[in-house]
Amino acid sequence: MRISRFTSITKLNTEDAFILINGITGCVDLVDSNVAQLLQSMKKEVHAKVPKSSVLESLIERGHLVIGDAEEELYRTRRMMENYIKGVTPLHIIVVTYRCNFNCIYCYQKYMKKGETKTFGQELTSEYTDKIYDAITKVDQELRDKTKKPIHLYGGEPLLPENRGVLEEVFSKGHSLNYRFVILTNGFYLQEFVPLLRRYKLDCIQLTLDGKGRIHDIRRPTLKGEGSFEKIIKGIKTAINNHIKTVIRINFDKSNVKEIPEILDYLTKEQILGNPFTDAYLSPTRRQRAICSPVFPSDITSAEFAHLADKRMIELFDKGSSFSNKLFGDQIWTPRFYHCKAFSQLFYDPYGDVYVCLESLRMFEMRVGRYVPTLQFNEKYTQWKNRNVLNLVPCKECPNALICGGGCALNAYLRTGSIMNADCTSFKLPFTQYISYLAERMQARFYC
Ligand code: SF4
Ligand code: SF4
Repeated sequence: MRISRFTSITKLNTEDAFILINGITGCVDLVDSNVAQLLQSMKKEVHAKVPKSSVLESLIERGHLVIGDAEEELYRTRRMMENYIKGVTPLHIIVVTYRCNFNCIYCYQKYMKKGETKTFGQELTSEYTDKIYDAITKVDQELRDKTKKPIHLYGGEPLLPENRGVLEEVFSKGHSLNYRFVILTNGFYLQEFVPLLRRYKLDCIQLTLDGKGRIHDIRRPTLKGEGSFEKIIKGIKTAINNHIKTVIRINFDKSNVKEIPEILDYLTKEQILGNPFTDAYLSPTRRQRAICSPVFPSDITSAEFAHLADKRMIELFDKGSSFSNKLFGDQIWTPRFYHCKAFSQLFYDPYGDVYVCLESLRMFEMRVGRYVPTLQFNEKYTQWKNRNVLNLVPCKECPNALICGGGCALNAYLRTGSIMNADCTSFKLPFTQYISYLAERMQARFYC
C-alpha cells in the first residue's frame, strides 16, 4: 500500500492542519500532521503490512492510499483518460466579428487592438458562413449517436447592429441543421436583438455585469466612454420576458468584490434574480493574458473573501467555479486531464482561420488550420489535441496533476516558445489562495 501519486498534500499556513486532495476521486480532506506524516512516509515504499485502523480505512476509501505500484496507477489513469476523451464532444464557436463596442478595463483581446495584429475588422461573409457549417458538419459526422453541443457565437461582440444580416444567416443555416445556440455578448444591444433571437433555438445568452450602475460602467464602458448598465438591464428584462434564458456573469476582483451584495440586491428587487429564465454566477476576473478562469482571484486573499462573502456570494462562486462546483455543487468530479477546453473546441473566425484557444485568436502562429476552401488542420492541431497532463514531463510526477491539468498552454508558449511545456505559474498562485478558501469552508469559518 502507498500514497496515491495523485494525492496532493498542502500545509495550511496558520495551523497544524493539512489539506489532502485526490485528483482521481476528487476527495478533499482536512487532516492533522500525524495523518499527513503517515501519508508522506508511504510515498516511496510499498508497505506489505500496515496495521489496520479506522484512519487507514478512510484514507483508502477516499483514494489517498492505493494498492499496487505507481506504474499500475498511472496505467489505470491513462485508461480512464482514454475513456474520458471518447465521451467528449467538440464545441464549435463562431467568431462573428472581432469588433467590439466596449472598452472593458480587463479586456484580454486588447492585444489585437494594440497592433500585435493589425487587422480585426473583417466581417463574416455569407460564403464563409457556409464554409463554417461545412466544417462543423464534417467534424460532427464523427459523433454518431452523441448529442451535438450548441454552437457558441462569440466575438469581439457578436450582437452589433451591423452584424444583423450575418447573424440571420448564421442562425438560419444552423437552425436548418438542427443546431441550438449560445450567445456570449456584452448585452448592450440585447434589447434590439430579442425579436431576432426569439425565432431560433437558444440554450441561453450569457452577458456580464460587474456591479450596480457606476461600478459596472467604470469597468465596462463603451468605446465612447459611455455607461452601459441601464441599457443592459433593459435588455435582460426584455430577454427574460420573452423566455430567453439569460445567464449573468459577475466578474469580480479586489476592486469590486465589496459591491457584489449591492448588485445582487438590485437584481433581486428588479425580479431578475429569482426569475426562472435567469441564472447568475461569480467569476474571478482575469488580470493577466492567457489565464482563463483562474480558480480564485489573484488579488484577494481567502480571508478577505471569507470576510465579505455572504451566502448568496458563496453559492454564485460555487456555480462559476467548475472546481468548487465539483466539490460542493452538483457537478460530478472528473480528473483534470486537460487544463482547459482548448483540446475539444474549435473557433472559426471571419478570416477563414481556425483556433482552439480563445486568447490566441488572431495570433497567426497559433492557428490550427483553415476552414476555407475546406477544413484542413495543421500540425499545431495535433499538438493541442495531444497536450494532456499525462504527456507533459514534469506533470507526470506532480501530485497536483489531475487538479491542474498541466497549466495554460498559451502561457507555456508565451514563456517557453512551445505549448508542449507545463505551465505551473497559471495554476499555483490562484490554487494556493483557493486551498485556504477550501480550508476556511471546511472548518465552517464562514457560511457554506
Ligand atoms: S490555453 Fe486554455 S487556459 Fe490558456 S488561454 Fe488558451 S483557452 Fe485559456
Ligand atoms: S503544470 Fe506544474 S503544477 Fe500543473 S500539473 Fe504540471 S507540474 Fe503540476
